[in-house]
Amino acid sequence: MAKARESVCRYCRREGTKLFLKGRRCLTDKCAFDKRPYPPGQHGKTRIRHSDYGIRLREKQKVKRIYGVTERQMKKYYKEASRRKGVTGETMLQLLERRLDNVIFRLNFALSRAQARQIVDHGHIYVNGRRVNIPSYLVRPGDRITIKDRDASRNLIKENLELCEDRPIPGWLELNKEKLEGIVISLPTREDIVIPVQEQLIVEFYSR
Ligand code: SF4
Repeated sequence: MAKARESVCRYCRREGTKLFLKGRRCLTDKCAFDKRPYPPGQHGKTRIRHSDYGIRLREKQKVKRIYGVTERQMKKYYKEASRRKGVTGETMLQLLERRLDNVIFRLNFALSRAQARQIVDHGHIYVNGRRVNIPSYLVRPGDRITIKDRDASRNLIKENLELCEDRPIPGWLELNKEKLEGIVISLPTREDIVIPVQEQLIVEFYSR
């Protein structure tokens, strides 16, 4: 994703919900949304009534920010989902959820998706024995995700696993903590994707 020049906490305040973009900090009393739960800027506290378009736009922005993808990538996921069989909104979320950076986050190998993306970028991650440094790589059922056999890589992941101990692993993934290994058991269902989003509104945004 293009580098954000402002703190990502502004995104949570703009979308009116905690998007958990900063790892552990989101669960502490330093969370900016908990302190100021209204949009940023001079008129942030002014009540705004969104148009139908505005409501759909905000929903789309929310997903973009949660997964840290660009507008171009978002459109690509929507187009791909609308070409496939099934419910477009759900398929779109499933594609986003299958991104390797998200999987690293879901396996608790990273504190946030932003960190997960960096971990993948820096070549710490192997899929089925081959190094994959592409955050948008889509995992498939049966994929085995392992960590580079270097102390620095393994220590980083172990540390993150300890810090994320209380975060449950979704049912479509399996974590072997001792081996520092994750297995993709199945494709994620809508129930597995616990994010505060009405995906149908995003479909309506793109199909307008
Ligand atoms: Fe959002 Fe986390 Fe910042 Fe809180 S600390 S505003 S949840 S990114």
